[in-house]
Amino acid sequence: MEIQELNKEIRARSFEKVKKRSLKQLTTSWYQDDLLYSGIGKNIFIIIPTVGCSWVLGDSGGCTMCSYVSDSFLEPVDGNEIFELFVNEFEKYDSTENTGVKIFASGSFLNPMEVPITARDKILEYLSKKKYVKEVVVESRPEYIKENVLKDVFSCLGDKLFEVSIGLETYNDFTREEKINKGFSREDFERSIEIIKSLKNSCKIKSKVYILVKPILTSENEAIEEAIETSKYCEMIGVDRVSFTPTTIHRGTLVEQLWKRGSFQPPWIWSVVEIINETRKNISIPSFMDTSGFGSKRGPYNCKKCNKILKNLIIKANLKQSLIENIDCECKLHWIADKRSSNLNRSKTTIKHLPLI
Ligand code: SF4
Ligand SMILES: [Zn+2]
Repeated sequence: MEIQELNKEIRARSFEKVKKRSLKQLTTSWYQDDLLYSGIGKNIFIIIPTVGCSWVLGDSGGCTMCSYVSDSFLEPVDGNEIFELFVNEFEKYDSTENTGVKIFASGSFLNPMEVPITARDKILEYLSKKKYVKEVVVESRPEYIKENVLKDVFSCLGDKLFEVSIGLETYNDFTREEKINKGFSREDFERSIEIIKSLKNSCKIKSKVYILVKPILTSENEAIEEAIETSKYCEMIGVDRVSFTPTTIHRGTLVEQLWKRGSFQPPWIWSVVEIINETRKNISIPSFMDTSGFGSKRGPYNCKKCNKILKNLIIKANLKQSLIENIDCECKLHWIADKRSSNLNRSKTTIKHLPLI
């Protein structure tokens, strides 16, 4: 497919521009209120440095919207060093109760080629001794979710809750393969969910799915519908939580190239509100909307008057799992017009370029 070739070329060029950063510079963390499985609490987010996502480092070119590989070391990192950097970040926070830890490896935590087993086991054993840590969340592609690996995880983590987040992005195989270049099928994904489900009797394991809102070559309307349908599918096959990630423009990606040429815009924040409200009306598992990049040039955008208001409402509603209240703004009419004509002009959202309707 042409799109995959293009994606590979763009990725190869972006690798040339990556500035080498030290392991310490690549390690970072933050702390925020979040809805844990045990209720509202704090989450410590820690990015650990790794060689980078295997899917990008192979010859696929990686996913069309993702540039996390630029935040990777691009050379193998010693497991003990990863562990020390992790502890250094973790100890910056003096939480005492109901805390979750989200470990981001800019790829798959369960892939030993990315996160060496020494690092994985030492981090999990360390967290198992922290009484106030109630849950640990990691991300992984489906091919690394194996029964023996998960059993090893629990032999280190004990009886704490462990959630594996999977970037399914969409239930639609065509979109995932041809527009996102994800490289795995719905069947592969379902196999990994079955493995997780089969372990539920013996350990506290949960699954979460990331759903991409508006991949390339997708109209505003299609993006809304596909995201909502994907959340229904996830609940149906036994996923525990879903988290929507609206597309933001990462540097060095195919998405960025299309955006620069005016062929792609991130979704409207109004679309995102519609998705989360419809999802919460339709399914009973918890659903979250990531608000990274909202209101910025490279992220979901409405207008200067309502970007921030809606972003704050979404964050609050994530904690309560409530609907976003109905507010009005003059840009809403532009969004409605854009949605109506979006199947004609695909992903362009600038109103002045739209045909009259
Ligand atoms: S989205 Fe995940 S699998 Fe795809 S390139 Fe990024 S880190 Fe790798
Ligand atoms: Zn507005």
